[in-house]
Amino acid sequence: MTGQAWEQADFSCGTCGHCFTAATEQEYVNLYSQHLNAHALLAMLTPGMLKELRALLALADVEGAPS
Ligand SMILES: [Zn+2]
Repeated sequence: MTGQAWEQADFSCGTCGHCFTAATEQEYVNLYSQHLNAHALLAMLTPGMLKELRALLALADVEGAPS
């Protein structure tokens, strides 16, 4: 990326308060869209589905399952 005026950009989510830092504009866009997608997905899940998902992730021994 050329012509970039900043060294890094900090993003703070207004919904969950999560903060992350991106070193490039492309990384920022990627992180931001991934984060919004995750929120959109979570918003679609019912508490029952979330419980099922957690159980499934735990069974599969997946780290970082939502709590
Ligand atoms: Zn968030």
